[in-house]
Amino acid sequence: MKCPGFLQLIDYLENRLEKKSADVVAAHLTAGCERCLSSREWYERVRTVADSDLRNDPPTWVVKRAIRTFEGRPVQPRTSPFGRIVASLLFDSFARPLIAGVRSTETANRQLLYEAGDYNIDLQINCPDQNRGTVWGQVLRKDEIGFQSVSGVTLKLTRKGRSSHTSSANDFGEFALNAVPVGEYDLEISTGEGKIIVSPLSIKSH
Ligand SMILES: [Zn+2]
Repeated sequence: MKCPGFLQLIDYLENRLEKKSADVVAAHLTAGCERCLSSREWYERVRTVADSDLRNDPPTWVVKRAIRTFEGRPVQPRTSPFGRIVASLLFDSFARPLIAGVRSTETANRQLLYEAGDYNIDLQINCPDQNRGTVWGQVLRKDEIGFQSVSGVTLKLTRKGRSSHTSSANDFGEFALNAVPVGEYDLEISTGEGKIIVSPLSIKSH
């Protein structure tokens, strides 16, 4: 199978997935996917160290249920055009203060979580070598059950004002930008409500 999304992996680790989905994720981990094992290790460490932070004030992305399996009627949120907003960083697995005691170099992937209005953007950056990296992630709208607002959103990576890579999200708001040369970028996410800017986005090995 392809890798589960980061949120799905967290739901699995928190025992929030229904059995069928949990079995699939468990099999994927048992198969030894390096990327997902690394994410699991990262999350378990962060959860241990940052226990109070996450439990007392759980961010949306942590508590969000395995909505892929949600069978109720989708709720269409009110749209509120916002033009252009710059996302703020909520969480960075490489930031020392939040995960003091965890050596960031022990995890291969950098995990970043941003907030922009009603949206959350979860990013993972992996640079297997000195030259190129991969950015993958998921866009979610907070008060939405389902993925209407994030399905198919387009992504544009620019470097010094020049378009570098483009992509679009799948039905679940998940996306990947592959073989990106290391460097400083801006990521622009175009939703039906407006543009979200993640800047700067630094893609580099560590
Ligand atoms: Zn995987």
